[in-house]
Amino acid sequence: MENEFIHLCQPDDCKSCGACCGLYNYADNSRASLARRLRDRTELFRRTVKDAASLARYSEMVKGREDQSRIYEVIYCCEYLGFIDPGRRKAGCLLHPAANGGNDLREVSFYGRELCEGHFCPSYHYLSREEKKALIDIIDDWHLYGLCITDIDLVKEYFRFISDGICRVPRPDLFRRAPFRDIALRYFRWKLEWPYRTDDPKRFGKYAFDGRHYMIPYIDYEALGCAKSRFDKIFLSLSSEFRDGRDVRCAEAMVRDNIGAFVSACLAEEQN
Ligand code: SF4
Ligand code: SF4
Repeated sequence: MENEFIHLCQPDDCKSCGACCGLYNYADNSRASLARRLRDRTELFRRTVKDAASLARYSEMVKGREDQSRIYEVIYCCEYLGFIDPGRRKAGCLLHPAANGGNDLREVSFYGRELCEGHFCPSYHYLSREEKKALIDIIDDWHLYGLCITDIDLVKEYFRFISDGICRVPRPDLFRRAPFRDIALRYFRWKLEWPYRTDDPKRFGKYAFDGRHYMIPYIDYEALGCAKSRFDKIFLSLSSEFRDGRDVRCAEAMVRDNIGAFVSACLAEEQN
């Protein structure tokens, strides 16, 4: 269906996104650390929240127990984000009516019920229907999914290069099966495993944060002794830091090989 609404926040039973609730804004936003936070909050919430007064107590306890260091001071990290399924595969709002027998408790939150309910991030507007569906099919882990679905450049550039290679937009159903899904998943896993990723803890995707300010630290190709890469936007999204032109060439080869593998698989399938 062409106009079908695709819910990026809670797309299916395998994962969800909690980025705009501040999930990745903690100084330590590794998967293990965030999973611990979400698990502990969920248990505390279920154990202690019985009424409005206990909600305030819950909030104080979470803020007292958890490390509140943030990457970007301006973005709030909401203490009501937890796991909303028994298998802990879905990050979500502990105050949402679906998690509280129909009672909407979001009024007590920092943003308030209306903002929480009505917020749709730029990915809803800028990603195409095909790109949204593909991402949902490729990634089944909440931590990686939230990082990638909110990185518009990373997604759009991948689709652009593949589309150039096969002279059309790749069909979204391709991403549900081998070898296409595995190739694409290798690309998106670079969000966590990219060998040229800076270890600067104040960097998030293409942005570098300095307390209350942020900037985009563009790659200085001239200083590296090479021309601007055609994969520049991808490199920025992956928080790349290159030592020299050789690094850039190796990084380009990795991206080129991945896109080439996807394109070759598409063309091979067309010929069969
Ligand atoms: S960042 Fe976007 S997809 Fe993620 S929870 Fe917020 S609105 Fe939903
Ligand atoms: S109260 Fe709002 S910001 Fe907090 S977890 Fe729920 S939806 Fe996210």
